[in-house]
Amino acid sequence: MTSSVDGIDAALLDRFVAIVGAAHAVRGEAEIAPYLHEPRGLYPGRSPLVLKPASVEEVSRILALASETGTHIVPQGGNTGLVGAQVPHATGGEVVVSLSRLNRVRELDPLSNTVTVEAGMVLETLHQVADAADRLFPLSLASQGSCQIGGNLSSNAGGTAVLAYGNTRELCLGLEVVLPTGEVLDDLRKLKKDNTGYDLKDLFVGAEGTLGIITAAVLKLFPKPRGREVAWVGLNSPEDALALFGVATGRAGGSLTAFELVGRTPLDFVLQYTPDAVAPLESPWPWNALVEISSGRSAEDASGLMEEILTEGLETGIAGDAVIAASLAQAHAFWSLRENLSDAQKPEGASIKHDISVPVVSIPAFIARAADAVASVSPQARVVCFGHMGDGNLHYNVSQPAGGDPKAFLDLYRAMNKAVHDIVRELGGSISAEHGIGQLKRDELLATAPPVATDLMRRIKAAFDPAGIMNPGKLL
Ligand code: ZN
Repeated sequence: MTSSVDGIDAALLDRFVAIVGAAHAVRGEAEIAPYLHEPRGLYPGRSPLVLKPASVEEVSRILALASETGTHIVPQGGNTGLVGAQVPHATGGEVVVSLSRLNRVRELDPLSNTVTVEAGMVLETLHQVADAADRLFPLSLASQGSCQIGGNLSSNAGGTAVLAYGNTRELCLGLEVVLPTGEVLDDLRKLKKDNTGYDLKDLFVGAEGTLGIITAAVLKLFPKPRGREVAWVGLNSPEDALALFGVATGRAGGSLTAFELVGRTPLDFVLQYTPDAVAPLESPWPWNALVEISSGRSAEDASGLMEEILTEGLETGIAGDAVIAASLAQAHAFWSLRENLSDAQKPEGASIKHDISVPVVSIPAFIARAADAVASVSPQARVVCFGHMGDGNLHYNVSQPAGGDPKAFLDLYRAMNKAVHDIVRELGGSISAEHGIGQLKRDELLATAPPVATDLMRRIKAAFDPAGIMNPGKLL
């Protein structure tokens, strides 16, 4: 390799291209551009080459050559990640490996309730594969139309179904991984029980491509719910939301499949900026909850549970108002409001984002204290708080003061992050609940995580990837 700023030696690039064939190597400036920029445009990258292998053997040969030549490799799925883990640095000295052509179903086993798929399968396609077998694959994300299973695993993606089904880690039973040396770790087992030493696969889940390249996975399937009810609830406070969550959990248990919290400001934004969006309740409330019940038995069972929850909520005064979706279309409309919250922030200017989690019981304390912290950094900034309350995970975003200067507001990014994250740490929470670390939170992780933990992570990284070729500068 020549100097990293000047990219990679042309003869070496040709050796990489020969592994996948010229038709599956992306080199032209226009063609390569979509692989170099992540969705928020925060980390524009450069690279002379994107490789699109179609087999595990090709991935293995790519990594073996990368190891031999010290070439840095950036694995990429659907390129929807929000922390800059999946794009190359601006040096131009890294090769991107796109898994999009490794996208087959290897096996579907309805009795074991497992599906074995390759890393490049798009999440929505997997939903369809499961549905055709009368099963559910529950992982559900805003980007499901383009994100890929390998990326979901590498970021340990969360989303809206974690409350009942767990995050991606909990949905994964087995993995096939190509190690930086080119060796293949075949751990594609569909076992619920397996106590045979260290759980190696768990190290690759959430590793953001820093330990190897996931090429296939055994994932859990579930029975399809026979009944589903969705309600929108108006609430006076986060304390009331927490109390209602307690009622819902107590009455519905595992049938409570979503409990999402939405503040007044994000709801106002989404109603203002989304065509055809309709307010679910007659009058606005300071807080809202989107509650979903799924029953494995029947529609009547789901509606009975929902009615019990809302009746208790309204009678005790915890809930201010509530409406149950009267049709599938209305249920979809409620979910659309929730899913469009992020986009609806854009017309309001610059935004400083947080993806935090705290113990569910600490959500009200976090919201109260974080509001003060935000005001201390930018008194006119607007808190846009929503998220997966049932998981203790909030997307605690802060929009710039109305009509203010976006750049001046974004200059406060670090100060705002610190003010909010200090509270998260004091409450025993996490500064990255479901988006990962990538480039965005790397410095903060290294500066604030316990040194024993970061030291262990570095030693694991060194054991798996002694040459340091896998996605360097991300996570660690
Ligand atoms: Zn989320």
